[in-house]
Amino acid sequence: MLIVMHHSASQKEVDAVIEAVKTMGLRAEPIPGSLRTAIGVLGNQGYVDDTTIRELPGVREVIHVSKPYKLVSRDFHPEDTVVDVAGVKFGTGHPPVIIAGPCSIESEDQMLAAAEVVKAGGAHMLRGGAFKPRTGPHSFQGLGVEGLKYLRQAGDAVGLPVVTEVMRIEQLPVVCEHTDLLQIGARNMQNFDLLKEVGKTNHPVLLKRGMSATIEEFLSAAEYLLAEGNPRVILCERGIRTFERATRNTLDLSVVPLIHEMSHLPIIVDPSHATGKRTLVPPMAMASLVVGANGIMVEVHPDPDRALCDGAQSLSGEGFAQLVKRLAKLM
Ligand code: PEP
Ligand code: MN
Repeated sequence: MLIVMHHSASQKEVDAVIEAVKTMGLRAEPIPGSLRTAIGVLGNQGYVDDTTIRELPGVREVIHVSKPYKLVSRDFHPEDTVVDVAGVKFGTGHPPVIIAGPCSIESEDQMLAAAEVVKAGGAHMLRGGAFKPRTGPHSFQGLGVEGLKYLRQAGDAVGLPVVTEVMRIEQLPVVCEHTDLLQIGARNMQNFDLLKEVGKTNHPVLLKRGMSATIEEFLSAAEYLLAEGNPRVILCERGIRTFERATRNTLDLSVVPLIHEMSHLPIIVDPSHATGKRTLVPPMAMASLVVGANGIMVEVHPDPDRALCDGAQSLSGEGFAQLVKRLAKLM
């Protein structure tokens, strides 16, 4: 439920409405805005009888929000959110952020070489997976905590903040310790227990869209993070599963302007997992910026043909540097 106050409502009237909401056993969230004063109501499991609220002085209207997400919606938060990750800003008014690095951290040397090529190419952040959600158990599963150390070292060596995926609640403390941005992967987008625990941290989060998730499910997953108190959320479109097998996934680019309409959270695009093909990464990365993405995340490997994971969709250092030059023309 959303309570919209009259423009002329006094602070005393706003406070009285907040008190009335609390008396009903619900949470009141004042929503500051230049155009209107509103109060978001949270904690109701069903319809709320609003007669007492409607009659309070200063109240203009009461809107019942039937969507499963509220805190992530523009109704509750009209202004764009900017997420600051160790000084790198994601959101409106800031240039698109380029995150690059290998799918997996394979060794100390590989990670450092990757960090050097992405830094030289113009990346703003470094990626690398230490805990890998692989489809089959016989594929490389990642170096775990050892990998986190190589990622941090490599990031520090070239001066880039780092992002990596956290797969399980037990990994959270060590992943928070070694990284600036926590990634929740497509396969875990609806791991609600993990979302709740990540929501209790104050660490910025990169939430990837589940491969078969609707936009409502995607935003509802983000709502879990905000509902636990963590507003530092960046969304990531990474392609969805369709009937088409010529590409790894189908990149749903319309989601970018649509999310900007529906939510105040920044959204970036991962054209590497979306397409699965190196040649398709640059055109889709450029298209992502054209439709308003707040950044991109691409896989880059110092020797893509020898990568232990996702080599076919990884750019070489040179390919990445060329892409950044083309992206710069769009920024
Ligand atoms: C990744 O970015 O390393 C990854 C595994 O991607 P996704 O969760 O989108 O499949
Ligand atoms: Mn990958």
